[in-house]
Amino acid sequence: MSFRNFKMVSYVVYGRGSFNQLDEILAPQRKGDAPMVFLLDHFFEGKPLAGRIPLRGKDKLIFADVTYEPKTTQVDALAAQLKEEFGTISGVIGIGGGSVMDLAKAVSLMMTNPGSSADYQGWDLVKVPGVYKAGIPTLSGTGAEVSRTTVLTGPTRKLGMNSDFTPFDQIVLDPELTKDAPANQRFYTGMDCYIHCIESLQGTYINEFSKSYGEKALQLCQEIYVHRNSWDEECDDKLMMASYAGGMSIAYSQVGVAHAVSYGLSYLLGTKHGIGNCIVMNHLEEYYPEGVKEFKFMVEKNNIDIPKGICSGLTDEQFDTMINVSMGMKPLWENALGKNWEQIMTREKLRTLYEKL
Ligand code: NAD
Ligand code: ZN
Repeated sequence: MSFRNFKMVSYVVYGRGSFNQLDEILAPQRKGDAPMVFLLDHFFEGKPLAGRIPLRGKDKLIFADVTYEPKTTQVDALAAQLKEEFGTISGVIGIGGGSVMDLAKAVSLMMTNPGSSADYQGWDLVKVPGVYKAGIPTLSGTGAEVSRTTVLTGPTRKLGMNSDFTPFDQIVLDPELTKDAPANQRFYTGMDCYIHCIESLQGTYINEFSKSYGEKALQLCQEIYVHRNSWDEECDDKLMMASYAGGMSIAYSQVGVAHAVSYGLSYLLGTKHGIGNCIVMNHLEEYYPEGVKEFKFMVEKNNIDIPKGICSGLTDEQFDTMINVSMGMKPLWENALGKNWEQIMTREKLRTLYEKL
């Protein structure tokens, strides 16, 4: 098919306090006494949100440790544990940042698909729908709530399970849930959205569909980070919608240089997605001159620390590993630099870029 037939999230609820509706939303999805499993970001252990989860019958609440971004081994272990304990479940609800939402999507798929999640890292390898799944962001920016992928680190690569079965059946967008996010983390994840917009809008894959969402998301990011002097509730509202629109923008195009380079960092050094993108964006004037200028302005205005020198002291072998991972992200490079990208971004040039980080 030459035009992508885009599978979207089935149901969306938006608004402050909409989380309170979760019990009602889940009721029709319950299958007999098969439980709902709630994966809650471990940040909320002992916090009021943990007490607001609408547990019924055999439902299970699991605090998801997201110290490291989701791994295929973690997904497989969780799915195996749930199968052993319950046989089948009614659904998986992921409440947290991009990491927990991705974990929920992957666990849902691995409740019904045989083998290991590592077998499905790639495009359209998943063949069977998972169990019902819902995503509830507590950090805004990744767009994981709307995307058709769940990014996992596996034995040989960091790559998503991209498929029509991956998007959530339901998302609950309640900006109240993001209010306690620390300023640095909120910035890094918010910048993931800003960078999605720049990469999508400046990319060769751009079309009117992606542009409409990307421009709106970019405008919302600018309102928050460029034009405001302090953070308030309205900023949380805006950033949540920016994340949604930014995610919709890349769903029908692609990300670009910052993501391609940051995946290498993340694979080798475990650098997290948001901060990794920021570390790379800081050095991409050549590719996104206006975006990088504005990015630097936002970093300064919002008093954010962007780490430097993270690649100093790495061996040739380590640089090669990062270059291999990065060069493997072909669609990202093609979107950023065009069909002849391999002539523009050589291994030597990429090495020089990594050395600057
Ligand atoms: P995250 O989910 O990794 O969370 C970062 C930190 O913030 C964690 O320590 C977490 O406990 C904490 N946290 C979450 N909510 C909080 C809150 N309300 N208050 C205080 N602390 C809170 O961060 P992220 O940037 O949202 O997500 C990054 C992940 O998303 C990566 O694994 C990346 O691969 C993935 N991602 C997925 C997609 C996709 O389309 N599926 C897109 C982009 C990124
Ligand atoms: Zn991203």
